[in-house]
Amino acid sequence: MQATQAISDIVWADILGYVRTRHSSISRGWFSQLQPGDLVSGELTVTATNAAQLDYLHSHCVRPFVEAAQAATGRLVSVQFQCPGAAGENGAPTTADAAVHSHVAPPLTAGPLADALLLNNEYKFDNFVVGPCNRLAHASCLAVSESPGTAYNPLFIHGSVGLGKTHLLQAICHRIVEQFPTSQILYLTCEMFVNQFIEAVERGLLDGFRYRYRHVDVFLIDDIQFLSDRERTQEEFFHTFNSLYQLQKQIILTADCPPPEIPSLEERLISRFNWGLVARIDYPCLETRVAIIRKKARSRQMHLPEDAAMFLAERIQTNTRELEGALNQLHGLASMDDRPIDLALARQALGETPTSEPQPVRIQDIMNLIAERYGLKLSDLQGRRRSRAIALPRHIGMYLARRHTSHSLAEIGGFFGGRDHTTVLHADKLIAKRRESDSGFSSQLDRLEATLRDS
Ligand code: ADP
Ligand code: MG
Repeated sequence: MQATQAISDIVWADILGYVRTRHSSISRGWFSQLQPGDLVSGELTVTATNAAQLDYLHSHCVRPFVEAAQAATGRLVSVQFQCPGAAGENGAPTTADAAVHSHVAPPLTAGPLADALLLNNEYKFDNFVVGPCNRLAHASCLAVSESPGTAYNPLFIHGSVGLGKTHLLQAICHRIVEQFPTSQILYLTCEMFVNQFIEAVERGLLDGFRYRYRHVDVFLIDDIQFLSDRERTQEEFFHTFNSLYQLQKQIILTADCPPPEIPSLEERLISRFNWGLVARIDYPCLETRVAIIRKKARSRQMHLPEDAAMFLAERIQTNTRELEGALNQLHGLASMDDRPIDLALARQALGETPTSEPQPVRIQDIMNLIAERYGLKLSDLQGRRRSRAIALPRHIGMYLARRHTSHSLAEIGGFFGGRDHTTVLHADKLIAKRRESDSGFSSQLDRLEATLRDS
């Protein structure tokens, strides 16, 4: 089925406006020369005027334009850039490396809400690096792809931005498309669900909307925190959820925090989100970050020396998307100057002068941070009092010092008021254990660690 639809000037202006405001750093004046083609089977072709523009679009603009096109049309759309002079073989348009490819699910209804399911071809299980930070999330995603509707239902994955939630969600789609080709998969962002619901209400198409959402085998919604504060959509979502759940259809959700922490989310939804499995993705450790960088470099056919990979992984710790951005930057620099990739170029890509060395975290920084966050004085952290309000921050301080400085147990104990090494070891174990089992506490630590790194 080749559904063709012209892109109106207004929609195109929306797309450009979105890119300019949300992605101003990659925006260029010449974007106004770009020509949109028709939307064919969910794919929008955008024509550049010369090969240099095309190169730039391919290296920097695929995601921003896909995101903008999806926001402007409220549908899952992929974007392909082309340029008449730079066409590939047979005059076919060239496709960006990171292009989003489409799998067109059989239409569920002939109504206006029938969409194509579009996936990023890189977001597969094979390209996902598994580490201690995401082992459970990865295993549960694999399990639901092998037996949708029976393994864990619903599956709720949460974690901070850029830690691979969307990647895993799309990996599930890819796997199910391969394993169960006739399965009806509906994958969308929560923002789309909200927009489509509003549109259906406005256009009096609620029946079609409900039919569409309640007749799928696998329902995947990304960034469900977007439901927060949207009462009517929450109500609709609640009924969608129930009807799919009763039919044992697989539901998979992601969010940037665990269900109870989504602001203004109805209790009944929170409780349902907790019915199946809730899996958290943590910040990746250094080994995992290096492995991700290597994998991404390989898929771009970049030769990345060990020290450059290590340098990037050490510098960028909290958002894997930024790691990827740095890699793209490095790729761009290397091809622009026709230079091999090395440590010096990696430093340049992160905007560092060759001499500036990373500043190690000092134990003093940790103590100041803890004192400030918990409203304590340094003397409290170093003092003898053992009330819970002081002992816990003190333990957290020791734990962070163990992880982020190279001081010995005895030295750390010394900083925290002359405590001996067994006290530090005990604190470290205590906090590590609680971090494993208490997601709210773990997020607290994540934030402290992020602040330490940024300072
Ligand atoms: P989120 O949806 O959690 O914000 P994404 O899934 O969009 O994050 O991931 C951001 C980028 O980081 C993507 O390019 C993704 O491929 C990459 N990424 C994140 N985690 C991993 C991982 N464990 N292995 C490989 N790539 C990863
Ligand atoms: Mg995401």
